[in-house]
Amino acid sequence: MKKEIPLTLNSDIQYLKGIGPKKAKLFHKLNIFNIEDLLYHLPYRYWNLKDIKKIKDCKIDEEVTVQGKIILIGERESKTKGNIVEIILSDGTDYLKCLWFNRPDLRYKFQRGQELIVSGKIDFYKQKEMINPYYEIINENNENRKLYAGTIIPIYSLTEGLSNWDIRRAIKQALEKTYHLIEEDLPEEIIKKYSFYSKREALKNIHFPENLKDTERARKRLAYSELFYFELILALNKKKYEELRTSPIFKTDGELTKKFLNNLPFQLTSCQLKVIKEIEEDLRKGKSMTRLLQGDVGSGKTVIAIYTSLIAIENGYQVAMMAPTEILAEQHFFNWHKELLKLNVKSALLTSSVNKKEKEKIYLKISYGEIDLVFGTHALLESEVNFKRLGLVIVDEQHRFGVMQRARLIAKGNNPHFLVMTATPIPRTLSYILYGDLDISTILEKPPGRGKVITKLISEKAREKLIEKIRKACLMGDQVYWVCPTIEESEKLTLRAAKKVYEEIKNTFPDLKVALIHGRVKSDERMKIMEEFKKGNIHILVTTTVIEVGVDIPNASIMVIEHPERFGLAQLHQLRGRIGRGEKDSYCFLILPNINDEKILLRLSYFVKSDNGFYLAEKDLELRGPGEFFGTRQHGLPEFKIADLIRDKDLLLMTKRDAFKIIEEDPNLIKFENRIIKENLLKKFSDKIELARVI
Ligand code: ADP
Ligand code: MG
Repeated sequence: MKKEIPLTLNSDIQYLKGIGPKKAKLFHKLNIFNIEDLLYHLPYRYWNLKDIKKIKDCKIDEEVTVQGKIILIGERESKTKGNIVEIILSDGTDYLKCLWFNRPDLRYKFQRGQELIVSGKIDFYKQKEMINPYYEIINENNENRKLYAGTIIPIYSLTEGLSNWDIRRAIKQALEKTYHLIEEDLPEEIIKKYSFYSKREALKNIHFPENLKDTERARKRLAYSELFYFELILALNKKKYEELRTSPIFKTDGELTKKFLNNLPFQLTSCQLKVIKEIEEDLRKGKSMTRLLQGDVGSGKTVIAIYTSLIAIENGYQVAMMAPTEILAEQHFFNWHKELLKLNVKSALLTSSVNKKEKEKIYLKISYGEIDLVFGTHALLESEVNFKRLGLVIVDEQHRFGVMQRARLIAKGNNPHFLVMTATPIPRTLSYILYGDLDISTILEKPPGRGKVITKLISEKAREKLIEKIRKACLMGDQVYWVCPTIEESEKLTLRAAKKVYEEIKNTFPDLKVALIHGRVKSDERMKIMEEFKKGNIHILVTTTVIEVGVDIPNASIMVIEHPERFGLAQLHQLRGRIGRGEKDSYCFLILPNINDEKILLRLSYFVKSDNGFYLAEKDLELRGPGEFFGTRQHGLPEFKIADLIRDKDLLLMTKRDAFKIIEEDPNLIKFENRIIKENLLKKFSDKIELARVI
C-alpha cells in the first residue's frame, strides 16, 4: 500500500488519490501542478440541478438544464457540418432534440433508455433542440449519483482525457486534506469591512456551493484579492518611483509663460488652469513628474503641453514632444513654431519624412542645445537623437505608443519630467489598470463658444439628398471631411475606398475643390493639402483615418463617414472630434450600407446619441470587452484569472482605494495588521515588485 504523505498546498497533484504521474500530466496541460493550482482552477459556469426544467416549460433562447431518457439515437453526415450525432430526449412532458457536431464518439456513449442530463441554450428548428449541450450520463451504479440530486455542479475547463468529474473529485479531496492550510491573504479589517468570506470559505463555496448566490459572493471575494494585490504593487512601485526618481526642480513664476498667455487669442478655461496648477506643483517639487493628462478630443490639451514646455525651456532645459502620426507632429510644429519664435524659443520638426541632410542638421542642433523644443514622431527615438539637456518629455496620444517607446524617449534625458496626453477617453477601470502608476489630470469641459455636433445615421438611399445638402453648405463656405475605411478597393472587401470615392466626388462636385489624402500620400504633398484645407481653399477632403487623431481645423464643420460599421466607437469618436471645433453647429453623417447586425446598430445608436467620450468608452468596453477595446494594438492590459474588468468594475475601484490608502499610511508595511499583506507579497509577488527592499 502507498504510504500516505501529508499534503500541503505545494504538494504535487500526483499525490492525490486516483491521480498518478500519468493523469497528473493531463492536469499539467491545464496549468495545474500543485494543490494550490488545483484549488484555483475555478469553474467557468455552474449547472444548476436544483432547477431542472420540464421540457414543456423551456423557452427558446433560455439557458436550461433538463433531465430525461434517451428514446432515439441517430447519426448522419452533413455536407457542410460534418458528422452529426443526434438524440431525442423525453422527460414525459415533451421531447428535446440534442445535436453534437463532429463528435462521432458520442454515438457509442449513448444508449436508448439511458438517463441523461443536458444543459445548454434552447433553440428551435421544427422542434425544441440544443446544440452541443453539456451532458452527463446517469448510470444506476454511478458512484456520484447521489451528488446529482439537488446540487449545483461546477463546470470546469477540461482537456482531452480529463472529465469534469475527475476534476471535481480531485478538488474535493484537495479541499478536505488542505482546508486548514489555506491561509488568508487579506487583512482582517478588509474582510470585516466588506463582510467577505474568508479565503477558505470562498474556495469551498466556489467549488461546492449550496446555491448560486454563494458562488458569486465567493468569486467576488477571490477577485478582490487578485485585484487588490495588483493595485498594491502599482501603489508600491509608484511610491518607490517617487522616492527614487528626482528630476530637475523648475521655477514656475517666469516671464515666458506669462508672455505666452498674454499672446494667446483666448483665455484658458478654469479646467485648463487647474491642470496647469497640478503640473506646476509637480515641477517645483524636485521629484519626477509622471502625469497623464486626459481630456476629450478638442478639450485643449496642446496648449497645456506648450505651456509646460515653456517652463522647462525657461529653466534651461530642452523638451521633446512625440506624436503618433506625422500629420499630427507636423500640425503641432506648424501651429506653434512661429508663436514660439516670437518668444525666442526655437523649435524643430523631426519625422522620418524629413530629408537626410535636414535631419542631420537637426540632430546637431539638438545635441548643441540650439533647439529648445522638438516636435516629432517615432523618429525621435532613433539613436542619432541626443539631447544636450532634455528636461521634459511629452507624449501626445499616449495610448498609441508602447511602454517601451515611452521609456526610450525618457532615457534620452537625465531623468526628465514626463507628461503624457490622451484624447481617447479610457473607461475608468482600464485607466486605473493601465495608468495606475501615473498621476492623472482630467479636463472635463471643452473651451466655450463651440457649436453643437449633430450626428445622423442615414441609409444608402439618402445619399443623393445628402450630396445636395453638402453642395449647398460648401457654397456657403463650409468644409467637409469625407472619411473612408480604406485607401483602395480590394478583392476581398467591396468597401467604398478613398481613391474611388475621391473620383466619384470630384465628378459629383465639378464646381467644388476636392482633395485626397491618406497614409500613402507623400508628406510634402500631404502638408500642402492640409495647409490648403486649413486656408479654406479646399471644400471637401476625402480621407482615411489618417486624420483620426489631433487634426485641428475649426472651419471644417461637416463630416461624412462611409461604412461606419467598420469602426469602433472610440475611433468614431476620435474622427468626429475633428469637427465641432468652430462656433457654428457641425454635422456628422454616417452612411450605413444595408446592414442588419444588431450589435452594430446598437453601437452606432450610442454614437448618435452621445458625444461624451467617456460614456462612449464605457459602452465600447461593454460591447467589445477589454481585449478588443484597444483593437489589435499592444495595449499592455494584464490578464486576470478571476476578475473580469467589466463585471468587476466596482471591485477595481474598491481595491484601488484600499491598496493605495494602505501604502500611503504604511509604505513599508511594518504595521502589525498589514503583516499578512507583506508576507503574501514577498512570497508570491516578489518578482513583480521592482524594489522589494521598499518593504
Ligand atoms: P486636444 O485636446 O484634442 O488636443 P487641441 O489642443 O487641439 O485639443 O485644441 C483644440 C482647439 O481648441 C485648438 O484650436 C485650440 O487652440 C483651442 N483652444 C484650446 N484652449 C482653448 C480655450 N481655453 N478657449 C478657446 N479655444 C481653445
Ligand atoms: Mg491633441
